[in-house]
Amino acid sequence: MVETASREGGIAREGQAVGSIRDSVVLNDGARMPWLGLGVYLTRDGREVEEAVKAALSCGYRSIDTAALYENERGVGKAIRESGIPRDELFVTTKLWNNRHGFDSALKAFEESRKRLGLEYVDLYLIHWPSSGAPVIAETWKAFEKLRADGRVRSIGVSNFLVRHLSELLAETGTVPGVDQVEFHPFLLQRDLLDFCRERGIRLEAWAPLVQGTAFDNPLLKGIAARRRKSVAQVLIRWDLQHGVVSIPKSVRAERIRENAQVFDFELSADEMASIDSLDASRRVGADPNHIDF
Ligand code: NAD
Repeated sequence: MVETASREGGIAREGQAVGSIRDSVVLNDGARMPWLGLGVYLTRDGREVEEAVKAALSCGYRSIDTAALYENERGVGKAIRESGIPRDELFVTTKLWNNRHGFDSALKAFEESRKRLGLEYVDLYLIHWPSSGAPVIAETWKAFEKLRADGRVRSIGVSNFLVRHLSELLAETGTVPGVDQVEFHPFLLQRDLLDFCRERGIRLEAWAPLVQGTAFDNPLLKGIAARRRKSVAQVLIRWDLQHGVVSIPKSVRAERIRENAQVFDFELSADEMASIDSLDASRRVGADPNHIDF
């Protein structure tokens, strides 16, 4: 396993090559997280999610990203247990949904998720959205700190937190999140968030790394993909990694799951990275954390 991220206090340099699907990044608490994972949003519990997870594990993925909201934690856990892969080689993320904030409520919600997954511990537990306001989130975060202290969660983090949400959390609490999982792709580069997280040792993780399938016809991306003999999906994922951002593309199709993992045998040049960066238009495909009403 290649050590890719320890030299700068756990933060990968931008432009750093990431070499193999087994490579992981060191989070600010010392835990290791694979650079690539499978996302399972909108994947049905039961056979669909079990087959997607098995397909991913069989081609080398070791990280799965689910959430209480996705209602497929049972299938994720079942596929993981049936894979026979040692638990300590796997990295399972799940998330606290918006209606479970507060200290006691978050502890209870976690236990429900853990039982559905059928796991002794979860590798990464995230606050799904900054939806309840800073005082309530600070209470939730205390529950997260307790879960980590108790060993039921290895790392704790947040999702959909913008700079102002992170600043509030850091001002009110003691533990810096290990991860912030946000919508991130070339049309939503968020330099301010990238810089903020890098300076504070928070690892950014990209959801909708494939722009939820809406950018495959983009001429610039198609041009780079053609020159590299890669797919646009592979270019998008590789762009994340070279920005030092963990990527969790979703697919339920085995051939696409495999394709999305074949991103460790090429490197985008600095010019290609810059031209992809220039697509930034502050454009979201998902909800805006500034205006959350769910
Ligand atoms: P994504 O950008 O990963 O796009 C997924 C879609 O792209 C698939 O449904 C499929 O249609 C298409 N696709 C996948 N691979 C392809 C390929 N090789 N070629 C052509 N098409 C391909 O979108 P996403 O699912 O929204 O994001 C990824 C993961 O991030 C989710 O599954 C979930 O785990 C996580 N997520 C988190 C949040 C959050 O609020 N924290 C929100 C959304 C998603």
